[in-house]
Amino acid sequence: MTLTYLALGSNLGVPIENLRKSLKYLSQKMIIKDRSKIYETKPYGEVEQNNFLNAVISVETDLTAQELLNVLQAIEKKMGRVRTLHWGARIIDLDILLFGEEVVQSDHLQIPHAELLKRAFVLIPLSDIHPQALFGKEISEWISLTGNSDDVWLAEESW
Ligand code: ATP
Ligand code: CA
Ligand code: CA
Repeated sequence: MTLTYLALGSNLGVPIENLRKSLKYLSQKMIIKDRSKIYETKPYGEVEQNNFLNAVISVETDLTAQELLNVLQAIEKKMGRVRTLHWGARIIDLDILLFGEEVVQSDHLQIPHAELLKRAFVLIPLSDIHPQALFGKEISEWISLTGNSDDVWLAEESW
């Protein structure tokens, strides 16, 4: 079993319902260990769009990283995600942040997630459920280094 951390995000429809629904689908394919609080976050990048709700969960799985990516993409598709602009609005976005100790560097899969340390909207929820240091620093330290933690605020304690 591999302990893995997934990032969930939504800014279309009713985002909290989309997060709940994705969690339900995920729980059919893997063991959900823990979930962060939900944060509202200003969109990242240049595209004009609604604020996001973001959360991070930890799961245990026997899948390989590639199989896990396929499962996440199948759930995104089942929930009606349409691929438009990169970093544009979406019903659900499911990303692999960490997959055990594994490092993957292929064209279509990078683990740890390539943007992990740049994004307060990922690091803040991650720190709810990952108290240990990450790559030699406390997560709180990585959060202050992003410089974008003002764009993230608590939306829901439980969900
Ligand atoms: P970002 O990756 O910057 O968060 P995004 O989530 O908006 O952007 P998507 O359009 O959802 O990007 O996905 C683009 C591609 O990213 C996917 O088709 C997938 O192959 C690839 N990808 C690479 N690494 C990962 C990862 N760790 N988790 C999920 N997808 C990944
Ligand atoms: Ca993403
Ligand atoms: Ca994605």
